[in-house]
Order: sequence, then structure tokens, then C-alpha cells
Amino acid sequence: MRWFCIVAMLSVWAGGAIAETIPLPRPRPPEIGGPAAPDEPEPAADNKKSEPPPLSACFVRLKELAVIKQLPNINQAGGCIAGDVVQLEAVIMPDNSKVAIEPAETARCEMAAAVADWIRDELAAAVAAKLGSPLRAVENYDSFTCRGRNNIAGALLSEHGKANALDIRSFKLVNGTSAQPTDPNVMKEFRDGMRKSACERFKTVLGPGSDGYHEDHIHVDLAERRNDYRICQWEVRQPIYRVLPSPHIVSETAPSHVAPASLPVSPVVAVVEEKSRRAPPRRL
Ligand SMILES: [Zn+2]
Repeated sequence: MRWFCIVAMLSVWAGGAIAETIPLPRPRPPEIGGPAAPDEPEPAADNKKSEPPPLSACFVRLKELAVIKQLPNINQAGGCIAGDVVQLEAVIMPDNSKVAIEPAETARCEMAAAVADWIRDELAAAVAAKLGSPLRAVENYDSFTCRGRNNIAGALLSEHGKANALDIRSFKLVNGTSAQPTDPNVMKEFRDGMRKSACERFKTVLGPGSDGYHEDHIHVDLAERRNDYRICQWEVRQPIYRVLPSPHIVSETAPSHVAPASLPVSPVVAVVEEKSRRAPPRRL
């Protein structure tokens, strides 16, 4: 009996030891109903891609002066590369009113800041003083576009392709009117002042009379050149006065298809029309 008990105890111990060494079945993979695997950390490189670039000193300053959004860096085929890119939606004036950029400008922060400073420090006040109503919006004709100069294929990369330029088409006023800085009939004193301040603040300014591509908008950019060389080409034209026939002169007998010899076409108008025929307006 004693031996039986010892043999029985030994066989129980041995059986347990054998059971411990038998491998357990492998867990079923999650795709066939097994428990879900714990989340694995993303590779470091992927994490870096999804993180926005760190805020620059320019962005931090501009955020106080304007309504802006941070955009991803630009890196497109054709050499269009830019970092620290923002979308400038509006400039906040010292009285907390806003001047919109319509549509919003996409530019390097430094370029957007130059535009915002210009509007805050000079343009808005000049518009209100000279054009008779506060500035509501600046019409953006073009900001970032990955293209060659003047939209010519194969030409040197435009500053627009570096998010470093803005084309201004018009100013929209609070009273519902708008004024184009290229319009000879907009107050010349205002256009003279705008030209002067633009050429002080930007590295390139192109307008009417520059190259035939800027008859209907003003181009400004911050292109870096050797020895800080700047280009300021904007011929601020004299107002065009059109002489209307006097209502007191009534010629009932003259045939309607013959132009009266006493009313020649204004030479200024003729020059402008001739230029625009030779070179249709495009953008730098
Ligand atoms: Zn341009």
C-alpha cells in the first residue's frame, strides 16, 4: 500500500511536468477572429511628415497683425519650392477693423508680412484719404502659382512660383466702389504715393509701361538680387480727359457715319490702345 501511494504520487508529479512542457496552441491572428494586436508606434519618419513645421518668428509676429493660416511647405516639380508658407486672409488694422485679401494670398511668411505691413502702415490710410472711403479689401489677381515668368512656358521661374509675389488688381472700398491703381482716372496723387511706397518696401514693382504685361495690375515681390538691386517700373500715367461734344452743337444735316473733323481721337488714348494691341496683358 505504501509503495502504491509513492508510485501514484510520482506519476501525478510526472504528468504535471509533462503538461507544463507541452506547447500551447498559437493565438489566432486578428484577421480570423483572434484578439486585436496592440497598437504599434508609427515609424519616426512618418510621424515627422504629419507634424506641421515649427512656427517661425515671422509667423508669430504676423499672427498678431493679420488673419493667417500656416500651410505646408511647397515642393513642386518645376523648381517651385518655398518654406514657411502662410495663407493671408485679412489684415487687422490698429482699430481692429479688417482689410481682406480677396482671394486670400498664399505666400512665404516674409512676403505676406511685407504686404500686411504695407496695408497697415500706408495703403489703408492713403485710400481713405485720397479715394473717399475706407479700404475694405485688396483684390489679389495672383499670388502663388507654379509657373514661368509672364505665364510663358520654359521661361525663368516667376517669383510667383516661389510664393514670393503678389499681383494687385484693385482696391475695394467700404462704400461699394472699387479703384484700380492702373486706371489713369484714379486720383494721380494716390497712384504716385502708392508707387513710391511700393518701391521702398518691395524688391520688384512692375506696373503699366514696364513690359506690356502689367497694364491691368501691379506686381510686387521680394526677389533677392546681387547688391540688393531693385526694379521699380511703373509709369504713373496722366488722367485721360475725354472731350464730349457740346450739347449746344447739333448737326442735323451731317451724315451719321462721318466722324466730325473737330473731334479727333485723343493721342493719349491712341497710345494706350496701340500698346495693348501689341502686347496683350499677362502677369509676371
Ligand atoms: Zn506678378
